[in-house]
Amino acid sequence: MEKIEDFSDERHKAWCIQCGKTLSPVKGESNKDHVPSQCMLDKEAPDNLPEVTICRECNTGFSSDEEYFVAFLGSVISGNADPKGQAFKRSERVLASNRKIQKAVEESLTVQKDASGNERVVFAPDMERILRVIVKNARGHVYFEHGQPVFGEPEHAAAVPLGVLTKDQAEAFLNVDHGEVWPEVGSRMMDRFARTAFWDDDPDFVEGWVVVQPGVYRYAAIDDGRFIVRIIMREYLAAEVIWDRD
Ligand SMILES: [Zn+2]
Repeated sequence: MEKIEDFSDERHKAWCIQCGKTLSPVKGESNKDHVPSQCMLDKEAPDNLPEVTICRECNTGFSSDEEYFVAFLGSVISGNADPKGQAFKRSERVLASNRKIQKAVEESLTVQKDASGNERVVFAPDMERILRVIVKNARGHVYFEHGQPVFGEPEHAAAVPLGVLTKDQAEAFLNVDHGEVWPEVGSRMMDRFARTAFWDDDPDFVEGWVVVQPGVYRYAAIDDGRFIVRIIMREYLAAEVIWDRD
């Protein structure tokens, strides 16, 4: 990805954007955290992957949920929770190395027969874990693009397969409207707007979406008075998180 410098307000950099705690200057007490985590992308992860600074507890606290997420998403797309049957290396690795997660994903899978007797795999994932990862990433995307932390629980957080949306719903979801208002001066989103408008040279910014890895992960961080984050993973899972701003 292109590296975009951040000139947003320095005062917003004193806290962990995930939990709101003051960041400690002590070495090892705060960490750079990639958004999205490398584990959610295929190897090789792109250069200049967005990163934000968060506290140590948050940095380690999310890793189990992220592994579950990766294993679940790989399994649902592959149609099974067998490490050997995975379409992606990432889910194969988690399922093969973590028995607890493999079991949890397997238990969320049931085979149903439809009216014509065809078997289909139905997943009922642990949505709490799925949404924790999505909200974590969404906070990171808002902060990275707009230079503003969003604390507290979002007003809305949901994730569904793109395929279950109606045609109109899918169109509305995919059509990202950043509106007329330009983002805060100095923010990365402002930089993307300017570069796209004047020089057409931000290859990662495609129709309002920031493409982290084509076909694997893209997101849109919209500021229309609220912060709206949309994420599409593997062109399969569609997620949306919304924070009202006051
Ligand atoms: Zn934290």
